[in-house]
Amino acid sequence: MIIQKTSNSRIGDFDPNNIGFGAAFIDHMIICEYENGKWGDVKLMPYGPLPFTPAMMGVNYGQACFEGMKAYKDKDGEVYLFRPEKNFERINKSAKRLAMPEITEEMFIDGLKALVDVDRAWIPYGEGKSLYLRPLIFATEEALKARISNKYMFAIVATPVQSYYTEPVSVKISDYYSRAASGGVGNAKAAGNYAAAFYPTKLANEEGYEQIIWTDDATHEYFEESGTMNVFVRINDTIYTPPTSDKILDGVTRDSFIQLAKKRGIDIKVEPIEVAKVVEAHKNGELKEVWGVGTAVVTTAFKALGYKDEKLVLPILSDEESFAISLKKNLVDIQTNQSEDPFGWRVKVEKHILETV
Ligand SMILES: *Cc1c(COP(=O)(O)O)cnc(C)c1O
Repeated sequence: MIIQKTSNSRIGDFDPNNIGFGAAFIDHMIICEYENGKWGDVKLMPYGPLPFTPAMMGVNYGQACFEGMKAYKDKDGEVYLFRPEKNFERINKSAKRLAMPEITEEMFIDGLKALVDVDRAWIPYGEGKSLYLRPLIFATEEALKARISNKYMFAIVATPVQSYYTEPVSVKISDYYSRAASGGVGNAKAAGNYAAAFYPTKLANEEGYEQIIWTDDATHEYFEESGTMNVFVRINDTIYTPPTSDKILDGVTRDSFIQLAKKRGIDIKVEPIEVAKVVEAHKNGELKEVWGVGTAVVTTAFKALGYKDEKLVLPILSDEESFAISLKKNLVDIQTNQSEDPFGWRVKVEKHILETV
C-alpha cells in the first residue's frame, strides 16, 4: 500500500457532539486505479477532489456500484467492522453484474482497516454514533462509445454519522413504479438503482408518505423492499421477509435479523409476502409490525401503509412488545461490543496497521 498522510488534519474542526449524515469527511481516503487489465497499488492519501472529465464513462453510462458499512467504537476505544466479508462479496457481485473488474479481498479489507485505523480519532463513540464507510467502483475511461470501460477507480471514503431515533413513518405500497425488474440489476448495489428510485419517492413524499414499499414489477402483488431497505412484516407472532432474488438486494442487516430471530426462537419465515395477505391480516387485527432494515439506521418502523385509496394504520407497540425494536437492540449490542458475539460478526481493527500493509 502506498501511504501518503496529510500534514493538515481537519480533526480540530470536527465536533463529535454535532454530527450530521455524510457532511464531514475524514482526513484520508483510499484509491486504486485499474487499467491495462489490472488493478494498480492501493493508495491511502488525503481526502479531496480528483480531476475527472464529463466524458468519463461512469457518469455517462452509469457503470458504478458501491457499498455501505460502518465502523463502531466501544467504551475502551477499540474499533470494529461488522461482517465486512459480506460487503466484499457483494461489491464483487455488483461489479460482475455491471461488467466491471472484481477487486481483491486484500484491496477491500486491508483498505478499510488501514483507513479506519489511520483516522480512528474521527470515529465518534456513543449511542447511534459510528463511522459510515463508502467503498465504490466506477468507470473512469474518457470515451463516449457505449461499451464496457477499460479504466476504473476503486475508492473508499468515510464520514462520521449519528443515527437519531426516528419516529415511525408512513409508507406507500407501490402499485405502479418498480425499483427492480426480473433479470435486471436490483440485487446489485448499482448507483443507478438509487437514481431511478428518487422520482417515485418524491411523488410519494408529495402524497405524505416518507417511503415506498416496492412491489414486484410484473403484478405489484408482492412486497419486495422498502425504500433502500429490506422489509419485514409481523403477523401475530410470525415474522415474514421475502427471499432474496435478482430483484431483492441481499442486505447484511436483513441476514443478521433473520439469524438473530432464529436464535431467539422467534418464528420467522423467508417467503414471498402477498400484499393481499397483509391487507387481510390488518383487517383481522393480526398485522402487528412492518419495518425496514439497512446499515444506515438499522431499523425504520412503519406506522401506516398506504395502499391504493386505503391507509392501513398499524398498532403502537411498546419497546418490550416490538420484535423490530428488540432485534435492533440485539444487533446494535453486537456491533458496538456491548454483548457477546455468538456468530463471530465483529472484526477488530488493530492499531498501527499501516506498519504491516
Ligand atoms: C444497501 C441496500 C439494502 C440494505 O443492505 P444492508 O447491507 O443491510 O445495508 C437494502 N436494499 C437496497 C436496495 C440497498 O441498496
